[in-house]
Amino acid sequence: MPMGRLSSFFSLPGISAGKKGAVMIQEENKQLIDKLHAQHSLTKPDWITLISNFTDDDRAYAADIAREIAQSKFGNRVFIRGIVEFSNYCKNDCLYCGIRRSNGRAQRYRLTDDEILSCCAEGYEIGYRTFVLQSGEDMTYTADRIAALVRRIKADFPDCAVTLSLGEREYDELKQMKEAGADRYLLRHETANQQHYELLHPAAMSFSHRMRCLHDLKALGYQTGAGMMIGAPYQTAEHLAEDMLFLREFEPHMIGMGPFLPHQDTPFAKEPKGSYELTLFLLSLCRIMLPNVLLPATTALGTIHPLGREQGILAGANVIMPNLSPTAVRKKYMLYDNKICTEDRSADCRFCLHQRMKAIGYEITVARGDYSDD
Ligand code: SAH
Repeated sequence: MPMGRLSSFFSLPGISAGKKGAVMIQEENKQLIDKLHAQHSLTKPDWITLISNFTDDDRAYAADIAREIAQSKFGNRVFIRGIVEFSNYCKNDCLYCGIRRSNGRAQRYRLTDDEILSCCAEGYEIGYRTFVLQSGEDMTYTADRIAALVRRIKADFPDCAVTLSLGEREYDELKQMKEAGADRYLLRHETANQQHYELLHPAAMSFSHRMRCLHDLKALGYQTGAGMMIGAPYQTAEHLAEDMLFLREFEPHMIGMGPFLPHQDTPFAKEPKGSYELTLFLLSLCRIMLPNVLLPATTALGTIHPLGREQGILAGANVIMPNLSPTAVRKKYMLYDNKICTEDRSADCRFCLHQRMKAIGYEITVARGDYSDD
């Protein structure tokens, strides 16, 4: 059957996916992946079809295209970012997160500015040229303090990028930190659907404030990262379709996307983890949709499967974000159960990743790895 007729047949209303033959669905999915490749966008119904009915074969098809795009942009090089998890105090109470305020079992810690600086020094020695400062929403680190810290890092390591991941802050604070030299900011939107957002967060948090923050970040000239958890509680294919449409429209420079993993001391302790396969598939689709995006194979992906980060790179990701926190605090920054690399020292992680990338024919590059439109 010619392609045109196939697609018009499927667009007839009232024909549910369940009634289509498996081969036909695959043909349709491949056409949708080709359409995304050609047009860099899909309609909401297209996304829902792809997300709810894909096969391993579709995944491999998308991964081949995505990997080719990534290789044409970045070669076989993977950027690394050292993450310093400098505080697990948090004023928020996100229902999914292990460091939420109500988790009385979390052992709280804060690093001093000098301790953060020495993590960066250690990271610099082993080849990191981006430092990501991440924390819970801990207001003892005021904008003044973060700005001063960014200035010190930039003075000591002028060839390095600083990425902040501190949660939501006000425009003036974000501006102050940008002016101090911060280059990038990671703030996952978590979900583009307001009702879904409200099921994942307490009433005190607001979807519109998070979205406003993301727009502020871009307006201030940060390389900005958005993203979501795959398989978060209550998430539907329609929500994920809305996430993909949001990412298309917002065009973040970075997309942080990993599977939801439960944490035993949260209200979502008994919720099922997200799908490894769907996460890999969506990574490929993000690469095809936004070819230049900086796309990490996340720690959560490495936690859900022992070769998750390797498979993420082979699915089109081009960034890995190893831990650069002092070993003594790593187990305390537990966003979800069984997080990997919590016993390791920073140099061990660096070496391990070198080996893992080598095993799949990739190499880690000592470069800042800024976003580029080219
Ligand atoms: N407080 C900061 C950064 C720390 S949380 C912020 O709000 O941005 C970083 C990311 O970890 C979150 O955006 C969330 O998407 C992810 N995360 C939190 N809990 C998780 C869980 N249980 N499973 C998977 N990812 C989780």
